[in-house]
Amino acid sequence: TTLIALNRKAVEFTSKPLKMFIGGKWVDAISGKRTEIRNPATGELITTAAEGDKEDVDRAVAAARKAFEEGPWPKMKPNERARLILKLADLIEENAEELAHLDTLDYGQPVSLTIGFAAAAANNFRYYAGWATKITGETIPSSTPGNIFNYTIREPIGVCAGIVPWNAPLMNAIMKVSAPLAVGNTVIVKPSEETPISLLRFAELVQEAGFPDGVVNIVTGYGPTVGSALASHTDVDKIAFTGSTITGRQIIQNSASNIKKVTLELGGKSAHIIFADADYETALANAANSIFFNSGQVCFAGSRLFVEGKIYDRFLADLADYSKNYKVGNGFDKETVIGPLISAKQKKRVLNYLEIGQKEGAEVVIGGDATETDLANGHFVKPTVLANVHNEMRIAREEIFGPVVGAMPFNDIDEVIKQANDTVYGLGGGICTTDLRKAHKVAHVLRTGNVWINTYNITEPGSPFGGYKQSGLGRENGAASIDAYTEIKNVWVNL
Ligand code: NAD
Repeated sequence: TTLIALNRKAVEFTSKPLKMFIGGKWVDAISGKRTEIRNPATGELITTAAEGDKEDVDRAVAAARKAFEEGPWPKMKPNERARLILKLADLIEENAEELAHLDTLDYGQPVSLTIGFAAAAANNFRYYAGWATKITGETIPSSTPGNIFNYTIREPIGVCAGIVPWNAPLMNAIMKVSAPLAVGNTVIVKPSEETPISLLRFAELVQEAGFPDGVVNIVTGYGPTVGSALASHTDVDKIAFTGSTITGRQIIQNSASNIKKVTLELGGKSAHIIFADADYETALANAANSIFFNSGQVCFAGSRLFVEGKIYDRFLADLADYSKNYKVGNGFDKETVIGPLISAKQKKRVLNYLEIGQKEGAEVVIGGDATETDLANGHFVKPTVLANVHNEMRIAREEIFGPVVGAMPFNDIDEVIKQANDTVYGLGGGICTTDLRKAHKVAHVLRTGNVWINTYNITEPGSPFGGYKQSGLGRENGAASIDAYTEIKNVWVNL
C-alpha cells in the first residue's frame, strides 16, 4: 500500500483541542465538556471538540443576531459581499489539500473524493458570490384605482441555522453558508458530533477572509442538545437541516416555536432502473457507483436496483465482478475506493440489515459482511450485492446508508415505475437505456426530486437539489436557495 502523507497543516490543526467559533472568537463550551473525535478507519483518537450545550447556542444566536441587526453585513453593498465570498473561495482552494485530509481523517473516505468535495466547496461559494449582485425584485402592474406603483424587494431572513450530518462533512456544511451569506443573512452551523474538524478549519478561513464578527458561527455538540436548541430557539429565523427523516420530523416540531422557515434534505431509497437496451458497460459502472460511492453513505444512493429480466442474471454476476475490484481500506491509501463507515454504530446497523435481509430471503451475490481482521479497528463493510430481493422487504424499504444494494428483476415498464415509486422516499432515481423516449417517459413519472439518465451522482451548485415525499422540504442549490434564504417584501405607493 502507498499511503498519502498527511498534510502538515492538518497535523498541526488536529494537534490541539478544538474550540467553537462564536461571534468571531474561539471559545470552549461553557460547561467545559469535550467530545472525542476518532478516525473511523483506525479507531484512533484524532482530537477532541468542545461539547456545546443550549447555553452555547444562546451565545451563538446572540452573536448572529447582533451581526445581523447592528453589524455591517446585511447593509454591505452586494459587490462587497461578493468580493469577500470570492476571497473565501480562494482560501478554500489554497487550503484544499488540508481540508480534504481533515475530512479523510474524520470520516474515512478516500482523499481522491474529499479533494473533490473541497474543490466543490470553493465552486459553490463562487457560484453564490455571483448571486449577491443579482437579487432583484419585480414591478407589478396595478389594477387598483389611482396611480399605484407596486413593487417587490428581496431581503435576508435574518439568523439562519444549519444542522448537518457526517457523510460529506465540509460539503454538507458549506451548503448552509454560501447561499445565506450571498443575500446578507448571518449563520450558525452545527456539524455532526462525529465530524466537526474541517468546518472548524473552514471557520479560520472565514476569519482570514475578513468577514465581520458573528456573520458565521460554528457550534459543536450533539443533536438532542445543540441541534434541538437551534431548532426550537425563538430568535433563529430559519433552519436548514440535512439528515435523517426521523430527525427532520423533530426539526419541524421544534421549529413551530416561532414559525421558522424550514428547509429539509432527508433520507432516500432511490431506484436505479437498468433496461436491457442500456449501454452495458455504462450501466454497470453507474449501478456500482450509485451505491458504492462514499461507501453508500449517500442520501440519493441507488440502493434499489431494478434490472430488466432478460439481462438480470448476467448483470448481477458482472456487477459482483466489478465490485470485487474495489479496494476497501484507509482513505489515505492511494488505491482505496471504499472507505470505512462513520462509526461502530453504523457498521452494526448495516450488518444488522444484512442479517434481516437474509432472514427475509435475500441472497448474497457478493460481500455481505465486514472486512477481514487486518482492518478490524475500522468500521469496514464489504461492497454488497443482494439478489432475490422484493420491494416489500425491510431492506428495500428502509434506508441502510451503507454499501448495500438490493437487486430486483422486472419485465414491464409500468410495473417497474410502480415499484420504483412504491416508497415513502422521493430523493433520487436512475435510468439506464439508449432509448431516449423511454428515458424521458420514465423520468417524468418518477416521484423524485432528482433523476439521472445514463449517469448518476451528479450535483452542481446551479441545479436545484431536494426531495419529494418524505425525502425533504424545499430545495437547495441554484435559484431555489436564494428563494429559501430571502423574504419577499411588497411595497405599495400611492403616487
Ligand atoms: P441524523 O438525523 O441522525 O443527524 C444529522 C444531524 O442532526 C447531526 O448533526 C445530528 O447531531 C443532528 N441531530 C440529531 N438529532 C437531532 C435533534 N433531535 N434535533 C436537532 N438536530 C439533531 O442523521 P445522520 O445519521 O447523521 O445522517 C444520515 C442521514 O442524513 C441519512 O438519513 C441520509 O439520507 C441523510 N442525508 C440527506 C442528505 C440530503 O441532502 N437529502 C444528504 C446527506 C445525508
